[in-house]
Amino acid sequence: MNTHSLHDLTFDQMKALLVSEGLRPLHAKTLWNALQYHSLTDPLSCIELAPPLRRWLEGSVKSGMWKLDVLPVSSDVRSNDGLTQKSLLKLADNQEIETVIMGYNNRHTACISTQAGCAMGCVFCATGQMGFSRHLRPGEIVAQVHHAKRVLAEQQKRLRNLVFMGMGEPLHNYDAVMTALDIITHTSGINIGPSKVSISTVGVVPGILRLAKEKRPYNLAVSLHATTDEERSAIVPANQRWPLSDLLAACRHYNAQTGRRIFFAWTMIHGVNDTPDHAKRVAELLRGLDAHLNLIPLNRTTGYEGIESAEEAANEFHQLIQDAGYPCTIRQRRGIDVAAGCGQLRAEKKSRRQAP
Ligand code: SF4
Repeated sequence: MNTHSLHDLTFDQMKALLVSEGLRPLHAKTLWNALQYHSLTDPLSCIELAPPLRRWLEGSVKSGMWKLDVLPVSSDVRSNDGLTQKSLLKLADNQEIETVIMGYNNRHTACISTQAGCAMGCVFCATGQMGFSRHLRPGEIVAQVHHAKRVLAEQQKRLRNLVFMGMGEPLHNYDAVMTALDIITHTSGINIGPSKVSISTVGVVPGILRLAKEKRPYNLAVSLHATTDEERSAIVPANQRWPLSDLLAACRHYNAQTGRRIFFAWTMIHGVNDTPDHAKRVAELLRGLDAHLNLIPLNRTTGYEGIESAEEAANEFHQLIQDAGYPCTIRQRRGIDVAAGCGQLRAEKKSRRQAP
């Protein structure tokens, strides 16, 4: 028998399921409330469950027909400044994924994984270095948000923003990510506003075009990192499949279709992409786009010899982009001591296990 997860279901799907099982539509509200609003790990502990719903839930979980996605924490670390907490969560097949909670001025953001590993192979990224294992289901994505909610609730804090910048390429797992977002943004569930959600892509052109066509109301971040195909392909292999000309055409189309600004990310790597000449070329490349450039100092990984740009180089780059008329920010480095780059905690744990 195939076991399905109740966390995979949107509200309408849950309602259809319960009705097909002979329960009343009203019961879907109660179950949804227990799972998606209260983030209960054991919905049977909810005293509001009516007897028919309780019997169905007990029977379905016991028989293995339905399950819940509650991901145990296999390791948890907090940065010295207390602002970043990274958890390694275990999936049912023993894969491990990372979820990070970051606090900025009492606003808390969770960084969510969408795949176990990643197929995109960006050379500087710890997740890219470990390769691809599998896509996450919607429930496994939603479960990370519940984890972050519960951790913050224990500290009397609230989760406000989500960034899909953890392990994996969200647009390579498009359908599961969009279903998860339908669940996460539902107003009687977790209820994170769509404008508080950012999806980051390395440049999966078909995914960008789908977001534009479907007019999804989320923020889009596109990792650029280089201005020529030769330079970009050397650090972002996905560029061979979706070269810069295609990527920028898709971004222009996205701007035009949705009226939404695109947040371009530029990982700053010393001597690789951080000269004034690079900055001038980026400004040229972005011409005509509604764009914001986010400069991100490289997180060093053991599998890549590059290091982060010097502060002066980053500042000069920043100034040149602003002078060219584009909004530009330098992302503060946070949680360096907890291996803040995606995949770093899992990679470190694995190498500790393998150490003699
Ligand atoms: S940077 Fe993102 S897309 Fe690139 S390998 Fe890492 S997780 Fe995948």
